[in-house]
Amino acid sequence: MKYSALALLRGALAAHRNWSPAWRSPEPKPAYDIVIVGGGGHGLAAAYYLAKNHRLSSIAVLERGWLGGGNTGRNTTVVRSNYLYPESARLYDFSLKLYEGLSRELNFNVMLSQRGHVMLAHSRHDLESLARWANAMYMNGIEAELLSREQVGELIPALDMSPDARYPVLGGFTQRRGGTARHDAVAWGYARAADALGVDIIQNCEVTGFVKAANGAVSGIETSHGRIQAGRVGLAVAGHSSVLAGLAGFRLPVTSYALQAMVTEPLKPRLDKVVISPGTGAYVSQSDKGEMVIGGGLDLFPSYAQRGSFAVLQSVVAATLAIFPSFSRLRLMRQWAGIVDVVHDSSPILGPTPVPELYINCGWGTGGFKAIPAGGWMLAHVLATGRNHELAEPFQLERFITGRLIDEAAASGIAH
Ligand SMILES: Cc1cc2nc3c(=O)[nH]c(=O)nc-3n(C[C@H](O)[C@H](O)[C@H](O)COP(=O)(O)OP(=O)(O)OC[C@H]3O[C@@H](n4cnc5c(N)ncnc54)[C@H](O)[C@@H]3O)c2cc1C
Repeated sequence: MKYSALALLRGALAAHRNWSPAWRSPEPKPAYDIVIVGGGGHGLAAAYYLAKNHRLSSIAVLERGWLGGGNTGRNTTVVRSNYLYPESARLYDFSLKLYEGLSRELNFNVMLSQRGHVMLAHSRHDLESLARWANAMYMNGIEAELLSREQVGELIPALDMSPDARYPVLGGFTQRRGGTARHDAVAWGYARAADALGVDIIQNCEVTGFVKAANGAVSGIETSHGRIQAGRVGLAVAGHSSVLAGLAGFRLPVTSYALQAMVTEPLKPRLDKVVISPGTGAYVSQSDKGEMVIGGGLDLFPSYAQRGSFAVLQSVVAATLAIFPSFSRLRLMRQWAGIVDVVHDSSPILGPTPVPELYINCGWGTGGFKAIPAGGWMLAHVLATGRNHELAEPFQLERFITGRLIDEAAASGIAH
């Protein structure tokens, strides 16, 4: 069913009783050419691009909970491509360009809002590193704009711009194409489009082990619904990547941490930019419902508990109020966390694993929502062809043996 204004009108005339489910809920078949583990954005996008770009038809996505119930449905929805190194800039800008056409491509409104993304400088040191960063972006062909103190004040009137503020704002830089997209819609849009192309999406189906052929290659998986044969398997399980790698018999340089976020009660439009303050450790945007969406850095210790610690919550709130004192009377409505897959160089791992026919997409850590279209595209490419896409080439697992790391953590030092 094509979604359109006319379909909406027809639906209204029929009291909205004629809508069909956005995707089927099939029972798993005994065998597929390709099985993807993880029904978050990256797994669902990979399934869609396998069917769309590579015209493959025997594909399943297995999700142990519900679609988008992992980090895809828990993030603060920031999209941007302002990365420091050329390898990352190419990958993330490819993703942002895919986002720019995604609602049309999927026939599903992902509510992309390119409202602009502003990074604040609170010290001379910050100003220098933002200048270096913006220059690197120019060199990589991605637009960036350094902002004076006055320009930041004009763009974000809600900021405390007084010179004796606890964290005075000295300037900043912006990527105007950055912004937000609706996280659930990205998962649902890919799921619906993949289902329409014949992909079986199976929820409440946990992968519990791997079946291997005599040559050590993966030939199937054990699940809570029984054994499923598979020609190739792709892993896109974010914070649980090390757990699945352990079941498959290899180790990953990934540590899992809780990353938390929170929203305030809704208020009238007050903030029409995504504002990041690496110096204080908080970032804020206003959702379409009016809530202030607030995020910060990782919890300090590895964990699989999707709650987040009070100490980090407190420091993120304090940082937010230091730059936006006028938000101090707002009540927090909800707080939650997701388990993110952190790699030492803050860059993803894409491509083959030490186990033949098993491929991986992980290591996005605190910033993989913006990468969903590209990450899915890369995983689909390697699953379909057995070869890496050229944009994924620098992000191989073997970089932890060669030492050719891409240290994006050096650029921002903040999760978003
Ligand atoms: C609080 C927070 C804020 C964030 N903010 C941003 C942001 O603003 N911008 C940004 O770009 N990124 C952000 N991120 C990061 C981003 O959300 C993730 O990098 C991205 O969503 C990862 O997508 P994914 O599909 O790889 O993982 P997920 O969405 O986590 O999907 C993985 C799925 O695998 C499933 N799974 C796990 N184990 C198994 C198993 N054994 N069998 C079957 N299924 C299994 C899980 O249930 C889960 O649904 C944030 C993350 C958090 C937690």
